Amino acid sequence: MDSENSKISQLLAGNWKMNGLRSSLAEIRALGRGIADLQGVEVLVCPPATLLTEAAKAAEGSPVLVGGQDCHAQKAGAFTGEISAVSLRDAGAKYVILGHSERRQYQVEASALIAEKMTTACEEGLKPILCVGETEAVRDAGNAEQIVTKQLEASLPKDFSLDMGVQELAVAYEPIWAIGTGRTPTTEQIADMHSALRVSLSNRFGMDISAQIRIIYGGSVKPNNAAEILAVPNVDGALVGGASLKSADFLAIIHAAVRLA
Ligand code: PEP
Repeated sequence: MDSENSKISQLLAGNWKMNGLRSSLAEIRALGRGIADLQGVEVLVCPPATLLTEAAKAAEGSPVLVGGQDCHAQKAGAFTGEISAVSLRDAGAKYVILGHSERRQYQVEASALIAEKMTTACEEGLKPILCVGETEAVRDAGNAEQIVTKQLEASLPKDFSLDMGVQELAVAYEPIWAIGTGRTPTTEQIADMHSALRVSLSNRFGMDISAQIRIIYGGSVKPNNAAEILAVPNVDGALVGGASLKSADFLAIIHAAVRLA
């Protein structure tokens, strides 16, 4: 199934992971200046939580939005070192990345926990970017679409509805073997996976709502491959790790999206 990519604004989300210091806030200011007049894209930076308040200030007066990289399933309580959706919101976050493969792997987060976090994030008015993706072994075994659509279904709250803001959801397809490796799937593999995810969302929420949900691609998106990837049917933006750390690189990716809008 093809979505008309031009009908929803492309989401270009930068995931700084555990990188960035206060001196990096200059990149957000440069990004803000660089996108001031652009149409048809939504630009987000997800810095480490310690920088969130300052990042929101640096983005003030520009279209750049800031978001968190994770949140706890509970809204408050005795969870040392964790970050709540409430705190993210208070710091100025509009989005939160949930279920990133690095958290699924290193923090052993299961899809059921991610579904709980999704509920909490939505209740606090944060828009979730839900990450799904396969290992290289799964891709090689030929099961990628089956496994990734199952992961999507299991990571969505059972009662996810319009009231909870399902239309604000973004799904990020991030093949684990492509993250930070410089390798990317073929455009055909990306098209097939995004189409499978769109069908799964359509089966669950109906075609109209499914068409509003952005399915973005992540995994080694760079200035030199962004145009090709973003032009793939059903690709509604990108989740960008390494290349979002430097505003010049991120801007080149954003400009590629604008040219397609
Ligand atoms: C990511 O961390 O979500 C990611 C896509 O990283 P990179 O762009 O560096 O592969």
